Amino acid sequence: MTETVNGKTEKREEKVTVSRCMEFRINPTMEQKILIWKTFGCCRFVWNNLLGERIGYEKINKGKLLNTTPAHLKKEHPFLSEVDSMALINTQLNLNQACRKLFPKGKAPKFRAKGKDKRSYTTNWINNNIEIIHKSDRENYIKLPKLGRVRIILHRGIPDEWRMKHATIKETASGKFYISLTFDADTEPMETRKKFEKVEAFDYSMPSLVVSASGENDITSDDIRWYRSLEERIVKEQRKLSRMQYGSANYWEQKHRIGKLHEKASARRKDFLHKLSRKVSDTFDAVIVEDINLQHMSKAMNFGKSVYDNGYGMLRNMLSYKLKDKGKVLVKVDRFFPSSKRCSACHEINHGLKLSDRQWTCKSCGTHHDKDRNATKNLLDEGKDILCRWASGESSLYLTSSGVLSEKKLHPHAHSNVRQAGE
Ligand SMILES: [Zn+2]
Repeated sequence: MTETVNGKTEKREEKVTVSRCMEFRINPTMEQKILIWKTFGCCRFVWNNLLGERIGYEKINKGKLLNTTPAHLKKEHPFLSEVDSMALINTQLNLNQACRKLFPKGKAPKFRAKGKDKRSYTTNWINNNIEIIHKSDRENYIKLPKLGRVRIILHRGIPDEWRMKHATIKETASGKFYISLTFDADTEPMETRKKFEKVEAFDYSMPSLVVSASGENDITSDDIRWYRSLEERIVKEQRKLSRMQYGSANYWEQKHRIGKLHEKASARRKDFLHKLSRKVSDTFDAVIVEDINLQHMSKAMNFGKSVYDNGYGMLRNMLSYKLKDKGKVLVKVDRFFPSSKRCSACHEINHGLKLSDRQWTCKSCGTHHDKDRNATKNLLDEGKDILCRWASGESSLYLTSSGVLSEKKLHPHAHSNVRQAGE
């Protein structure tokens, strides 16, 4: 269903090792489901017990982390031995990581409550304990620790040379089961190109998703209307749920129905963004976006939901790794660059431009602008400039491991055009 490249890359002689992830639907039997649910519960049990110990220990021994394993819990609570031991160890490792991050700040990880917990666990590949078994074209299984053979829907093939690292089993809100498998794969290092002929710029736009500098790759509200209508249905069903008695049979049925709608919306959005990012990364050599902080923006402007559910951040992410796979780059322009206020024709800054203005006319040269389109044209100019400077080897520019071309910040309010003028 999805394929992502994690940022981690490591050099191994000529080849480069990258992480690949694939997700498949699985259909466990009732017996297997019960064991999976037990495993979720045991992971929660281990998390809560070890967390309690660590918090107590930290109070007495300031700054020290207690590093106990689930072994002593197993002695007192034999039911823990019924489930996959790697799942419990991974819980412990995740907990340690969370403690190391939060304890120094005077905080602690949260205890996990039944029902509100994430329904997943992760196990590791050791000596073929996880294995795909092909029975026929239509019948495939995955062998998993403790669970044995679980029916898997292999909607796409897994290259033989990929090495499995770990597997995460999860249950969605509507009661479907999925497994996501992480592999190590060796690839030829992709030479990043230094010549960029076809370049496009995108900017975030309301109420649709993006506008492009060329105007050919815009997404309009029409394109995502299906998403809005699903969203309306979710609100309606949610209202029904709020009138039902908590815990009744109707209540759970309704909760499942809502979960299914959420999953449908998220799957369709993901699919839509995958197609768009594939098309764009095939067509262009480089793509330019603004380095906006989506969290800040949604808070400051009360966009809240729209910024997130439109998945602008998701799109940027997909673009960066798809471009990277093709030796292309995503350019992030500094967020202090005045992309909306600058006239793309004469570069005069319109200081009086308000957030609510959709259109404006430049006082200096008389060009009439659509605000969003003008901003993308400025981004395109600025981005092309950055690409030129990078191609000529300027040292303030660097390529991140996820394929994003960024500029080292000199001071927080510097924008690159000002800095250039001073050089
Ligand atoms: Zn102008």
